[in-house]
Order: sequence, then C-alpha cells, then structure tokens
Amino acid sequence: MASVEISGLTKGFGGVTVLQPTDLVVEDGEFLVLVGPSGCGKSTLLRMIAGLEDPSGGHVAIDGRDVTHAPPSERGVAMVFQSYALYPQMTVAQNIAFPLKVAGVAKREIAERVAAVAAMLDLSDLLDRRPRALSGGQRQRVSIARAVVRRPRVLLLDEPLSNLDTALRARMRHEFARLHQQLGATMIYVTHDQLEAMTLANRIVVMSEGRVEQVGAPLDVYRRPASLAVAAAIGSPG
Ligand code: ADP
Ligand code: MG
Repeated sequence: MASVEISGLTKGFGGVTVLQPTDLVVEDGEFLVLVGPSGCGKSTLLRMIAGLEDPSGGHVAIDGRDVTHAPPSERGVAMVFQSYALYPQMTVAQNIAFPLKVAGVAKREIAERVAAVAAMLDLSDLLDRRPRALSGGQRQRVSIARAVVRRPRVLLLDEPLSNLDTALRARMRHEFARLHQQLGATMIYVTHDQLEAMTLANRIVVMSEGRVEQVGAPLDVYRRPASLAVAAAIGSPG
C-alpha cells in the first residue's frame, strides 16, 4: 500500500496559483527527494502533506486514508524545518520530549523513548544542555530527534542541511541514509543540493514553477532530463 498519495492537489494564495494540480504516489518506506528552484512550490507541497497548509483543491491520503482536512497530529507525519525551531528555554531532553508530553505519553515511556532517540542521533551526552550551547549540527540533530521520537510513519524534511557547512553536510548525509534504514519510515526530503539528491533518493521529483516536471530514479533523471529546467535543477551535463 502506498504511504502517501496526492491527487489533483493544488494551492493558490490570493488568486496566484503556486501549485498546479499535482498527482504523486510515494511508496511505503521510500526515500523521495524533491528538488527545484526557490519559489517553485516545494515547501507548500510539504506543508500540505503535513497539514500545516490547507489545499485549494485535491486530496492527500496516507496509507489509503483521506487526510486532506485532518489536523497535523492525526496524520502520523512529522516535519523537520530548515530553521531548527527549538525552544531556547528548554534543555535538549525537554525539547525532544515535548511532542510526547503534548500527546499525553506516560512519563516513563517518554524517558525511554528520548534516551533511545538521543542514542540514535549521538545526543546522549548533550541532553542537559540548552540549544544556545550547541553547534548548528547538534541543533539540527535535536530537531530531527524531536521529529522522530513520535515514530512518524512519514518524515518530511524541508532543506534540513542548508544552514550547515560543507563538511557537516557530508556527515549528515550519511546519517540520513542510516536514519532511513533504522526508522523504516517513508521520507520526503527537500533540498537544493544535487549531491544530496543523487545519493539519498530512491526517486527524485523535479519541480518547476508549481509543477512536477519529472519523476524518476536519480541516474535516469540525471542522464535523461525531460527539460532544460530539470537539467538545471539536477546539474545534468549540458
Ligand atoms: P519553495 O519551497 O520551492 O522555495 P514555496 O512553496 O515556499 O517554494 O513557495 C512557492 C510560492 O508560493 C512562492 O512564490 C511563494 O512566494 C508563495 N507563497 C508561499 N507561501 C505563501 C503565503 N503564505 N502567502 C502567499 N504566497 C506564498
Ligand atoms: Mg522552501
């Protein structure tokens, strides 16, 4: 069964269409990477899957259930943002625990799950620190931990590495591949970085001006771009 199914999904802001009617099926457990120039509608699409933005038309289904108008908390979806959006007054442990607390999970289970996720993301020694005492890479790992601690069926990542330096991005790229294996979650990952797209994706979706231009395996899209816009987005040789 497909994990995420989008049909005829469209979005306008005040009469301006930013997402043309879009169909897309993301398979259960797939690592899908979304690329395309700034402003082409990637974040809007992700936000509608998460339930943070109301579609102007069309449907979103997760595991066959129509969730087009379901609140974010009922979708089994978690999202990681480019700006880490951590709570500055809380410790790392409290930041990670927060979504479980809100969901009413028992204290002991919260402690167990926070410890497990912290170990997975190499944060065990940092649990008592506040976000301002962390490096950029550590902060991003905390925001990932906070998303995965809910055990989402679908993990959405919106340019999660774009605030990090080159060396750290390379390391985190490997961590995402490992995380995908460990979680077994469906991942939809937005990036500007062609190397991230080529190395992480099972399939790449290339968007341009509010439309899906091409969907395919990374090497196929790279070797046989369907348009100049695709070639530019994926860095195909001229
Ligand atoms: P991307 O993530 O690919 O850079 P976005 O999805 O953020 O693109 O934006 C797509 C288009 O929609 C852009 O032109 C952007 O200005 C517009 N847009 C996004 N959010 C809003 C909003 N809340 N109100 C009006 N326009 C918006
Ligand atoms: Mg964006």
